[in-house]
Amino acid sequence: MKVLKFGGTSVGTVASLRNVKNIVESQPGPVVVVVSALGGVTDMLIDAARKAASGSNEWRLVYDKILMRHEDVVFGLVAQDAQEKVWESVRQLLHRLRDYYRGIELVEDLSARTLCKVVSFGERISSLVISHIITGARHYDSLNFIKTENWFGRDIADTELTSRLITATFNDLEAGVAIVPGFISTDRDNGDITNLGRGGSDYTAALIAAALGASVLEIWTDVDGFMTADPRIIKSAYVIPHLSFLESMDLCNFGAKVIYPPTIYPVFHKNIPIKILNTFHPDAPGTLITDTHRTQVPQSFRGVSSITDVSLISLKPNVLFPSPALRNRALNVMSKKGVDILLSTHPESDDTVLEFALRREASKYALECLRQDFDGECTLADIPEITETHDVSTVTVVGENLKSDASAMQRVIHTLQRHGIEVFAHAPGSSGFAQTAVIPSDRLHEALALLHANFLE
Ligand code: ASP
Ligand code: MG
Repeated sequence: MKVLKFGGTSVGTVASLRNVKNIVESQPGPVVVVVSALGGVTDMLIDAARKAASGSNEWRLVYDKILMRHEDVVFGLVAQDAQEKVWESVRQLLHRLRDYYRGIELVEDLSARTLCKVVSFGERISSLVISHIITGARHYDSLNFIKTENWFGRDIADTELTSRLITATFNDLEAGVAIVPGFISTDRDNGDITNLGRGGSDYTAALIAAALGASVLEIWTDVDGFMTADPRIIKSAYVIPHLSFLESMDLCNFGAKVIYPPTIYPVFHKNIPIKILNTFHPDAPGTLITDTHRTQVPQSFRGVSSITDVSLISLKPNVLFPSPALRNRALNVMSKKGVDILLSTHPESDDTVLEFALRREASKYALECLRQDFDGECTLADIPEITETHDVSTVTVVGENLKSDASAMQRVIHTLQRHGIEVFAHAPGSSGFAQTAVIPSDRLHEALALLHANFLE
């Protein structure tokens, strides 16, 4: 049994959906096919909701575009004798969506929960339509079996419950094709519509692959695979034919946009290989991701990735809080409050200034958590000095062999510094397979080019 996932670009147009149809229909089966919303539709759904919430009826123009995109696909690909019936089902969903927009415009308010309902229409409609395009396919509704729980205001998958529900749902699949909407889910406690986060369709597919013990998880996208660097920035970047789970996890966690980072965990634990394949170039070999021992390659560096819009929080130790204690305390506070930290430096002595890199959007909350925690206990004079630097980016080199390559980080730093690029902080990733440096954002492209030229060409 295979699980295939097709992203927004793959299901975006009549032409690309023809490729999807060919790819799926040539599979021996059984096969579960997870689909995203038509490319760009999720952004449009959000855009229209925001317009409605501001009291403007401009949402109608966006809504009309959404309607037309689906109309093109239904009348371009569904068998002629079924077109009207399928369009009627799509129209019913679109009318529900329109009612939501009217309501939002009327109350001029958009709660997070309402936005979840609105964005769910992208995958609900795409999966319904695609189930009528692929011969012999059956539609399954993820709202019934992908369950989330609330964690510090975020919806995260309840993997245990979801796994049980997936097994029960697909036990009748036999040799057929199941079409499943990605991304969308429901809250396990109150049944509200939720989702797995932007890009979350990959994760839906991984949860299904893991629960059903699939032979492979194929992620069909619009690039030829994992690249050694972002090809929009580095023209000489090339496809990496084979990566380990941990290498791909580090590349994704540190900015590679090929797959949604949580995707790798469920299949990694079941040792199910992932293939990254290109819908527009189906014969290209792509990237195969498997467990470590099959990826023995001599080179240390396998790829480089980056994240822009990073903030660096610096904590200055004092007598009350020497560096090691301060580090533990800060990490503790932030992890208890659900703050994701990209990187934290290790103190060399009691008075080493500590650095924590995190995504810019998380930094305000992280600072609040830290300040509150110290405020609660210390007098003003004893509070460690906390400062924040913006406009920094992370560059990360990844490779399983970096674990045994003691000088790798020095070589990276040396290369950057030799070209006058300041390194504000650096640290290995928790797996030991990645080394990350924090640098000024305006030198990022240059840094990527240097690291690629020196270590990957
Ligand atoms: N449609 C959703 C998004 O655009 C989920 C996905 O495509 O994976 O983020
Ligand atoms: Mg994606």
